[in-house]
Amino acid sequence: MAASYPKKPTLSKKIYIVKFLHSLADLYPCEVCGGHFKKMLAKYPIKNNSRKELVYYLCGLHNIVNKRLGKPHFDCKKAFDFWGGGCGCKAKKHGKNHKKIGKNRKKNSKKAIKKNKKEINKTIEKPKQHK
Ligand SMILES: Cc1cc2nc3c(=O)[nH]c(=O)nc-3n(C[C@H](O)[C@H](O)[C@H](O)COP(=O)(O)OP(=O)(O)OC[C@H]3O[C@@H](n4cnc5c(N)ncnc54)[C@H](O)[C@@H]3O)c2cc1C
Repeated sequence: MAASYPKKPTLSKKIYIVKFLHSLADLYPCEVCGGHFKKMLAKYPIKNNSRKELVYYLCGLHNIVNKRLGKPHFDCKKAFDFWGGGCGCKAKKHGKNHKKIGKNRKKNSKKAIKKNKKEINKTIEKPKQHK
């Protein structure tokens, strides 16, 4: 969502994203996580003046959670490319550009899955072969 947030948002978009993030924190299915999210929103005011600001802001929050969970740090410079900025919708009426964006996201997530699989496979012991 951040990667497709307007580069120059209107006041209403700025308000919507603030409302959305607070709603998300409130409705987050994991109550403990939602509580953490609320604390982070209070500690780090939402940066919503541009797409770049919002992407770095949310990527930063996600990295705080990643650190706490022992997950790898995500390079926020890569967030624009990784998340693509499209909606992933395949509807024809959206036109070529829309489809291309969708494809990029698919390609990026395929890459990420492949990389993850490799890392997981490294840690899984191979079963012994029966002779
Ligand atoms: C405030 C908060 C607290 C949470 N606390 C917990 C908790 O205590 N325990 C728990 O199990 N889960 C917690 N979660 C959920 C957790 O962040 C993961 O979403 C969840 O564990 C599922 O993991 P995942 O690997 O499927 O997805 P995620 O780790 O969310 O990853 C989804 C995708 O985002 C990409 N990504 C990773 N980091 C970034 C980043 N910084 N910027 C952009 N993209 C990124 C990943 O590569 C991946 O493709 C919390 C979430 C929030 C918002």
